[in-house]
Amino acid sequence: MSDTDKPALTNAPQMYVHYCEEEGCTEWGGWGNSPSPAVQTRWWCFEHFPHKSHEQEQMLRRKLEASERGNVVQ
Ligand SMILES: [Zn+2]
Repeated sequence: MSDTDKPALTNAPQMYVHYCEEEGCTEWGGWGNSPSPAVQTRWWCFEHFPHKSHEQEQMLRRKLEASERGNVVQ
């Protein structure tokens, strides 16, 4: 069993295919955040995005509540 260097597939610097980085989440990571240009951008889906504004947080909560009650108007 050898644990040699793996191809750099998993840490390409600017991958344009990026899913939510929350473990177990398979949503598309459409929400990116980077504290500075020198830091690689991290990506999350809207639900797991940790830098939401208060308004965005409330919007999400309302959406989740609505779908829990099962009265989402199509
Ligand atoms: Zn997610």
